[in-house]
Amino acid sequence: MSAVIEVQNLRKKYGDVVAVDDVSLTVEQGEIFGILGPDGAGKSTTVECIEGLRKRDGGTIRVLGFDPYAERAEITRRLDVRLQDGTTSDRLQVAEALTLYSSFYRDPADWHVLVDSLGLNSGATTGSGELSCDQKQRLSMALALVGNPQVAVLDEITTGLDPHARRETWDTIETVRASGVTILLVTHLMEEAERLCDRVALLNKGRVAAVDTPSGLIQRIRDHHRITFLPSLPLHDDLLTRLPGVTGVTRKDERVTVTATTDVLHPVLSELAHHGIVPEGLRVERVPLEDALLALTAADPGES
Ligand code: ADP
Repeated sequence: MSAVIEVQNLRKKYGDVVAVDDVSLTVEQGEIFGILGPDGAGKSTTVECIEGLRKRDGGTIRVLGFDPYAERAEITRRLDVRLQDGTTSDRLQVAEALTLYSSFYRDPADWHVLVDSLGLNSGATTGSGELSCDQKQRLSMALALVGNPQVAVLDEITTGLDPHARRETWDTIETVRASGVTILLVTHLMEEAERLCDRVALLNKGRVAAVDTPSGLIQRIRDHHRITFLPSLPLHDDLLTRLPGVTGVTRKDERVTVTATTDVLHPVLSELAHHGIVPEGLRVERVPLEDALLALTAADPGES
């Protein structure tokens, strides 16, 4: 396998807001690579820099060997950059839109074949504004693929779809990958990443919290533990945050919650005992998957 996308120490600010602090990742030929993370993690900014749509403030990016910002013409020939924005004007018919997009490329794919393979069967004369949500996504993908891209970027494309349409879109993405296109998929859904991605980068606060296979990530998350208690005396968070495996300490009312990637009950109790603190109403629990993902990203890599 060879690297199609290589990002090293990417940094991007908007004024004083650091959107991407330090992101490094590599996407191999033929992969579906997911970028997962909560809102505001820097996912869209990262992919916009990869697409060459935004000028980065630091780091290096190579897409198929080219700098996407400095060598934009080379990139637009090889990378789809239209997928994330849905479709074109609602007034265009499906056939008109596909013919228009084909005209942008020197060597376009045959859009009739794309329409068939993507199951865009509502009829080429249908206005794109009249298509159902999942048919719109299929049109969006057909428009993206008509230029025969080597890499496609899908940014939150199933957001707003009902579960059925979402599954249909997943099937379509798998069809696209089977045709040899490398896919960078931005999502905030663990289920989507699990179904589609070979590997996932989990982003948080502009940094990479983890890169793993979805099952590896789930394994880490499944090992996530939570301890809650009411301390008998005031407690400084850093007594607990410095313990190995602890990813966060939060409070609701007086109650303290400690999250950890391993079973930290014994070290937490020892630390509390050492400071004469009794944990009243102590509870130890395993965390559900989606909550655990949030907990994993709640550990700020910049402050650990
Ligand atoms: P995500 O895609 O993970 O939700 P974004 O890359 O959209 O994250 O945003 C990362 C951070 O950058 C957020 O704090 C967001 O508010 C900020 N941000 C994104 N775009 C802009 C912009 N055009 N101008 C100013 N701040 C922005």
